Amino acid sequence: MSNTAIAVRRSDAISRGVGVTTQVYAERAENAEIWDVEGRRYIDFAAGIAVVNTGHRHPKVIAAVKDQLDRFTHTCHQVVPYENYVLLAERLNKVVPGDFRKKTVFVTTGAEAVENAVKIARAATNRSAVVAFTGAFHGRTFMGMTLTGKVQPYKAGFGAMMPDVFHVPFPVELHGTGVEDSLGVLDKLFKADVDPNRVAAFIVEPVQGEGGFYEVPKAFMTRLREIADRHSILLIADEVQTGFARTGKLFAMEHYGVVADLTTMAKGLGGGFPIAAVTGRAELMDAPGSGGLGGTYGGSPIGIAAGNAVLDIIEEEGLCDRAERLGARLKQRLQSLVGAVPQIADIRGPGFMNAVEFNLPGSKTPNPDFANRVREQALARGLILLTCGVYGNVIRFLAPITIQNEVFGEALDILEETLRDCAKDA
Ligand code: PMP
Repeated sequence: MSNTAIAVRRSDAISRGVGVTTQVYAERAENAEIWDVEGRRYIDFAAGIAVVNTGHRHPKVIAAVKDQLDRFTHTCHQVVPYENYVLLAERLNKVVPGDFRKKTVFVTTGAEAVENAVKIARAATNRSAVVAFTGAFHGRTFMGMTLTGKVQPYKAGFGAMMPDVFHVPFPVELHGTGVEDSLGVLDKLFKADVDPNRVAAFIVEPVQGEGGFYEVPKAFMTRLREIADRHSILLIADEVQTGFARTGKLFAMEHYGVVADLTTMAKGLGGGFPIAAVTGRAELMDAPGSGGLGGTYGGSPIGIAAGNAVLDIIEEEGLCDRAERLGARLKQRLQSLVGAVPQIADIRGPGFMNAVEFNLPGSKTPNPDFANRVREQALARGLILLTCGVYGNVIRFLAPITIQNEVFGEALDILEETLRDCAKDA
């Protein structure tokens, strides 16, 4: 079987709406490596978009799932519930930031977690408006898409968005929007468009994911929390991409001195199996009536078994500390290339949620062509990279945190060689 032959069948059989960044068809994967149908090996710096933080097929995740497969695969928790669902909720209630009593609901995808967080916030506050940020990504469902702060390709062509959603510029100093600029727009929004007493929630990614790996400045998060408290608005932290040791903490909100009322999680929680959750203040989580939340597959036994294993692995293998160490090495290596690669405009990111942004040399003009060339040439050399950013000029690094030191070293060498070559050709 060849990648090209499958690619032809794929374009015949699959909606164009589902984009793909590589035409490498996976055959098997182990920790930080993927082998394609032609037997070629790749080092995976995408981790299925921040999903296998604990590596592909972590032995403990596989063992937990196999054990679950041998007992039962689906009963629907709303019909015949199971204990490990309760256990995973108890564990999340403990580890999600916030020194208050918490409850949890399980769903299947990140977008669904976001939908449910908004439903819970609306039910709890009796208000309907939600304020999100430009550049945000919150999913492809109707509310997720509406909250997403990027039209192309996420909203274009899909008609009217959900009502009562407002966007405030996300503070990115690098692009000329400071903390005070953002807060100023929020203040104007409250004066011109929406009474703060009608706002149910702010929703924010502590580090924007698809939007470009921009971290919420500490001062901004503090002010946002203050404004929320002043108007009894809830704060939802979307930790779908930032969660589960990626930023050097179990949750990115641990980097801030303030906490969210509701937290959305998915991706890394399942270590490769679909599972998502909303955890938050118990009294808010209990606002929807019985039957108002859930779904046939929400908290599937397989995802739950994987989630419990993932929490064990992160703790046993010290993955938060390891994320810090790996991220420091990656950023150091990129830093050493600044002279040789004048397109590098910024190197950033907490823990192992790192990115490099490219501009035209000596200018502030975003350089998506260069980012794409780096991605393509790295792939040709066996390293899978992802781009992101409102301008598409950012390469984000999302390798499994369990990546072996030798494989990581090899990947850094490929990255360096690729960046040097692309800079020479530019
Ligand atoms: N929120 C954030 C912050 C995300 O990064 C994503 C996925 N990239 C989502 C929500 C949506 O998750 P899913 O694709 O599982 O629906």
